[in-house]
Amino acid sequence: MDTVDKATRSRIMASVGQRDTGVEMVLRSALHRMGLRYRLHVRSLPGSPDIVFPRYRAVVFVHGCYWHAHGCHRSTIPKSSNGFWAEKFTANKLRDAKKEAALLGAGWRVMTVWECTLRGKTARQPEEVSASIRKWLHSRARRGRVGDPSAPLATDLAAAMP
Ligand code: ZN
Repeated sequence: MDTVDKATRSRIMASVGQRDTGVEMVLRSALHRMGLRYRLHVRSLPGSPDIVFPRYRAVVFVHGCYWHAHGCHRSTIPKSSNGFWAEKFTANKLRDAKKEAALLGAGWRVMTVWECTLRGKTARQPEEVSASIRKWLHSRARRGRVGDPSAPLATDLAAAMP
C-alpha cells in the first residue's frame, strides 16, 4: 500500500507538523486492511477530523504529541521556554477540546489516537491500535482514546480550566 520510496517515507516520518502524516498513514492502511472504510479530513465537520467513519457517526483524530501537548515523553517543552511555548501548547489543547465538544454536541463520537502509540519507544503494532479503534466503533462509548492513560483527555483539561 505504501506509494512512496524509503527516503521520502523517512522524511515524512521525521517531519514535525500540524498534520501528522506519517503515523496517520500507517494507521489508515492498518484500518483499511481490517476492512474499515472511512473518509479523510472532512472539512465540513469541526476541526476537519483526520479519519471519519460516517456509518458509525464517529471520528478519529491522530494527534502529534508535541503540538497537542500530550504530556508523554514525546511532548516535553524546551527547557529554555519563557512561557511562550507553554502558552502555545495550552492554546492548542484548548482548541482541541473545543473541537471535541462541538463534535460531541453534534452527535458525533470522538476518538483520539496519540502519536506515541504508533511511533517511538511506546509504539504498538498498527494492527493492535486499529483493533482498539474497531472495538470502540462497535461500542457505545462517545469518547475514546488510544494513548498514555495518565495524560488527560482534552475535555478533562477544558473542564479543569477556569
Ligand atoms: Zn504521546
